[in-house]
Amino acid sequence: MRLSEIYKDNSSPIFSFEVFPPKGENLDKKMKNLFCELSALVEKKPALISVTYGAGGSNKDTSLEIVKELKTHLKQPVMPHFTCVCLSKNYIENYIQEIEDIGILNILALRGDEPQDIDVCYRDFKSALELIEYLKNHSELEFAVAAYPEKHPKAKTLEDDIDVLKKKQDLGAKVAYTQLFFKNENFYKFFDLCSKKGIKLPIIPGVLPVASFSQLSRIVELSGTQIEPKTLEFFEKYKDSKEDTIKAGIEFASIQCEKLLDFGAKGIHFYTLNKARSSCEIIDNIT
Ligand code: FAD
Repeated sequence: MRLSEIYKDNSSPIFSFEVFPPKGENLDKKMKNLFCELSALVEKKPALISVTYGAGGSNKDTSLEIVKELKTHLKQPVMPHFTCVCLSKNYIENYIQEIEDIGILNILALRGDEPQDIDVCYRDFKSALELIEYLKNHSELEFAVAAYPEKHPKAKTLEDDIDVLKKKQDLGAKVAYTQLFFKNENFYKFFDLCSKKGIKLPIIPGVLPVASFSQLSRIVELSGTQIEPKTLEFFEKYKDSKEDTIKAGIEFASIQCEKLLDFGAKGIHFYTLNKARSSCEIIDNIT
């Protein structure tokens, strides 16, 4: 199904999952584990499963292997992410052709962050806008885009980001998925500002079920994601027990998702971190 059809449905919340290609040692084992988690995720009948793509094409093969597994064996609606930064026009043309040849209908079109460890960085495509302009003119794919309720770290102002999102919509983006956040108020404000600017495409909040306190601290420190001190304290209480942290993450995200859906979000995009349990239990809690 194409994105425009998926998000036309207003009858029930639309859930999607995001997974990433494993890397490092024991790749075969990690891929097997991921396919196991994917089998559990598909039980929830997601509208889409999206697969991330390493900027610069670093994990193209594993990313495509997962996309093919989802499409061919698990028969799932799958949406590859694709980042254009540092890639040549020729590379991009070939990749788009390759995914269209395997029957992919939708793509999450991104700029990506310039990788540090790349020898040659092409400047053929400098932003997501340039990529989606290309997709619009040279492919049949429908495209989703990224949005940032707490501002992209490099953007000067939130308004600049919203102007970019409006341009993405005007070029034909069908849906936007947001960066993860913990303060729903920031999403509500962002959503209202977008509406005032004439942005009508569905903006789907990205939710990360916390599963580790150290990981949460890292996200907050490195990406500047805002978090209430009381939320941090809530998770800190459980930091010595993995099981208790997972349960706390499910509890927190269930309330967060319920409020987002009450506010009017059409769905939730779960950052699963390649684990099925938390996202599946959250869906059970809120449906
Ligand atoms: P753009 O839309 O081109 O830019 C995003 C915004 O940032 C613009 O609104 C603009 O205001 C501002 N901006 C960007 N760069 C600058 C700059 N240099 N100066 C000033 N303002 C600037 N990354 C991956 O590598 N792989 C993935 O699979 C992946 N998946 C993602 C999925 C989602 C849902 C989200 C939200 C992000 C994802 N990212 C991924 C991260 C993304 O690639 C980065 O955030 C990247 O920096 C911006 O990509 P973009 O497509 O939003 O770029």
